[in-house]
Amino acid sequence: AMAHSKALLVLENFIGGKFIPCSSYIDSYNPSTGDVYCKVPDSGKEEVEAAVKAAKDAFPIWSSKSPLERSRILNKLADLIEHDLEAFAQAESKDQGKTITFARTVDIPRAVHNFRFFASSILHHVTECTEMPAMGCMHYTSRAPVGVAGLISPWNLPLYLLTWKIAPAIACGNTVVAKPSEMTSVTAWMMCKLLEKAGVPPGVVNVVFGTGAKAGEALVCHPDVPLISFTGSTLTAQRITEKSAPHCKRLSLELGGKNPAIIFDDADLSQCIPNTVRSSFANQGEICLCTSRIFVQRGIYNEFLKRFVAEAKKWKTGNPSDPTVNVGALISKEHLEKVRNYVKKAQAEGARVLCGEGVDPLALPSGNQKGYFMLPTVITEVKDESCCMQEEIFGPVTCVVAFDTEEEVIKRANGVKYGLAATVWSGNVGRVHRVAHRLQSGLVWTNCWLVRDLNLPFGGMKASGIGREGAKDSYEFFTEVKTITIKH
Ligand code: NAD
Repeated sequence: AMAHSKALLVLENFIGGKFIPCSSYIDSYNPSTGDVYCKVPDSGKEEVEAAVKAAKDAFPIWSSKSPLERSRILNKLADLIEHDLEAFAQAESKDQGKTITFARTVDIPRAVHNFRFFASSILHHVTECTEMPAMGCMHYTSRAPVGVAGLISPWNLPLYLLTWKIAPAIACGNTVVAKPSEMTSVTAWMMCKLLEKAGVPPGVVNVVFGTGAKAGEALVCHPDVPLISFTGSTLTAQRITEKSAPHCKRLSLELGGKNPAIIFDDADLSQCIPNTVRSSFANQGEICLCTSRIFVQRGIYNEFLKRFVAEAKKWKTGNPSDPTVNVGALISKEHLEKVRNYVKKAQAEGARVLCGEGVDPLALPSGNQKGYFMLPTVITEVKDESCCMQEEIFGPVTCVVAFDTEEEVIKRANGVKYGLAATVWSGNVGRVHRVAHRLQSGLVWTNCWLVRDLNLPFGGMKASGIGREGAKDSYEFFTEVKTITIKH
């Protein structure tokens, strides 16, 4: 009989167009089974040094290509990822714990779109020009790529968020060293295998795998990396800001949120309820834009709560590769514990858990008993000061509370340190505009959620970030501008 040894997947760094083994590795888990299934390079200074050197060497040629040449290569890469969409989706689901459905319909299509979008938008930028006839002068601006871009991404939307940085960085003519999350490195490694075929020259995209403390920090501290684009937690962003300060690096920081949904009594509940369930629990609540504080106007509070809980209970938790499942596994054992603890703390403070964690039974298939699963959980009777209403939980947990007036709810919605995204539900157009203007939030969705136009700025206020990314914003971030004056 054949021995069934389950070979571990072993990733390698991608530096200067070559896959390079590392001297030590980190275990990576399949969140839906709890098994170690992959080894990720535990890179440090040495590997980052080699990657930065490769990126520096590739810069002169890549930056001197025309936008059209770069655009063609980005489009080719998009096509290649799209061709392997199913393999990428399977890998993302296995590595991250998210449902195969979400990976197939959101993560990978968006990664493809990121390359196509910036392949197109890079062709359409115009620089400025002004004239001063009295002085006999004209002025114009010129934009040039900055150099080696350091890109650091989180584990919740692995390839989606990494390509949201790589695409604009290389479209603008920079070369990059990317460091994906050590917990979700597989799809970035798969992408590296397609770069040569797409025509990306060696050294233009380098990927160094490893932890934040070792590989991430080596990148942040490297003197030849003038720019860091980071997506992750506010705490890590503070550390990155500190570490990069001596080098005066340019930073773009996309951080956490504690996003409110404000539901007025004239909202169309048939739209609002399923969408707010989705905005609370999509991707296990592990999206920076997920709703976690739901403010419902008093008149419809009881009806909303009843219907909302009924809808949340319909969401099936289980094996991520089952296409009928809505909620997959959380990223790690530690993260599951952290999320569960928030629910316990809320209960200890006197809040009521209406469904999910600790209330309903969680039946899992036999292969998933050791996975990191949790049911969609709805908490109510919770105070605004409670940690569940103030801190980012980043799991399938949402709080529902009542409010009376518009003035009151704006103040309460703004009463957290974060300011990333908000949703407003109301049939009154005037009110929708008024409230949207007063919310301290980089994004406000009214009567919808997560509808994005990549042309427009994305990013957060307050502790949710610094800077914006989008067609124009990313172009400005990833290029250095110069004002030139000509006297004639
Ligand atoms: P994290 O901050 O722990 O890690 C993010 C990345 O930073 C990882 O690659 C990690 O290895 C690296 N890192 C950690 N310490 C570092 C250091 N000292 N120096 C350099 N790099 C370091 O975040 P996470 O847990 O992976 O992701 C979840 C967080 O990301 C949540 O707070 C979520 O809201 C946020 N997020 C924000 C957005 C957004 O666009 N605003 C999108 C997705 C996720």
